[in-house]
Amino acid sequence: MKVLVVNCGSSSLKYQVLEMGGSGLLAKGIVERIGIPGSFLKHEKVGDDKMVLEVEMKNHKDAIAHVLEALLNEDHGVLTSLDELGAVGHRVVHGGEKYASSVLITEDVVQVLEECSDLAPLHNPPNILGIKACQELMPTTPMVGVFDTAFHQTVPKEAYLYAIPYEYYEKYQVRKYGFHGTSHKYVAERAAAMMGKAFNEVKVITCHLGNGASCAAVKNGVCIDTSMGFTPLDGLVMGTRSGAIDPAVIIYIAEKEGITADQVINILNKKSGVLGISGVSSDFRDLGQAAEEGVERAVLALAVYALRVKTYIGSYIAEMNGADALVFTAGVGENDIAMRELICKDLDALGIKIDKEKNNIRGEETILSADDSKIKILLVPTNEELMIARDTVEIVEAL
Ligand code: AMP
Repeated sequence: MKVLVVNCGSSSLKYQVLEMGGSGLLAKGIVERIGIPGSFLKHEKVGDDKMVLEVEMKNHKDAIAHVLEALLNEDHGVLTSLDELGAVGHRVVHGGEKYASSVLITEDVVQVLEECSDLAPLHNPPNILGIKACQELMPTTPMVGVFDTAFHQTVPKEAYLYAIPYEYYEKYQVRKYGFHGTSHKYVAERAAAMMGKAFNEVKVITCHLGNGASCAAVKNGVCIDTSMGFTPLDGLVMGTRSGAIDPAVIIYIAEKEGITADQVINILNKKSGVLGISGVSSDFRDLGQAAEEGVERAVLALAVYALRVKTYIGSYIAEMNGADALVFTAGVGENDIAMRELICKDLDALGIKIDKEKNNIRGEETILSADDSKIKILLVPTNEELMIARDTVEIVEAL
């Protein structure tokens, strides 16, 4: 079955077409600047040159229409008719407490997602726009929603509840949800396979270190804790996000700077993290270079980042009463050799020993730990699109 995987942001849209049970990835691309002057589509058929289309795309429907045209294009396309698409899988950021697994998208599901928009105002509305645009353009093709929050729905109550008046959980569903679930699940499953063990028999700590970053504790095939919280601002230090901070800081800065709490949250989302500390960049390639050149605040930003990851590794070993594997994935986790080394430095007391030579690698599924490391350190490139396509096929084939 050919599956179109769609991941809609507010002004961008990423897509892939995968032939499941066949040749795998057929084409992928991205539309940027949707609704902003200068919008364009970059499309790539596997094994072919990239095609760039600069055309005004006023909204997500325009964008999807151009994606479908590219997929049908005589030279660069991978479909002769849209009927060849067996289903569309949509990445949806927030499924609230309602969805612990992927679902066939119906009118009722769209309504629940609209209700969840309150919990993810930046993410769910563009996801819904993408779903509606695809439904309009492909009215008979089944659509599946795959949620970033779903894998974390097994986190027990003592790990997801905040120690605030219980009524806020009951009235407003204020709790930890966690994100990047599709990625955590994929790399944890791969880790079990790499160790030749069943997924439900291993304890894995997964570190998804990309632009956004989160860790998860996966015990016997289910997630028992994760670092992102009510929103994706919590937990690890990120490119531009602060991660966990004392909430009193928000009001203190607002008063000192004469700005609103909303404006402070915006600063914590967009101007903080390693960018905020270093003043250099949110990109770890720039930071690594600045650190090599002796820029002190770049060195400091990297040290703060690594220390925060370490504290989660330690706490997850405690929560799971041990671990079999520590997994690095996403842009930084897959490519930043120095950062992986910094995170794993002086963790031998916990049974974590990285092999510097084995660690000298990027973007390949491999073992990074020393032979005598009690906990295996693994590099697993993430593949959220494949997970979305797999869930989509499973649901559509069962119809
Ligand atoms: P992602 O969100 O998973 O696409 O990760 C994007 C981030 O990965 C970028 O902002 C960079 O900070 C980081 N990254 C990508 N390539 C490299 C590299 N070769 N070395 C260090 N960091 C990298």
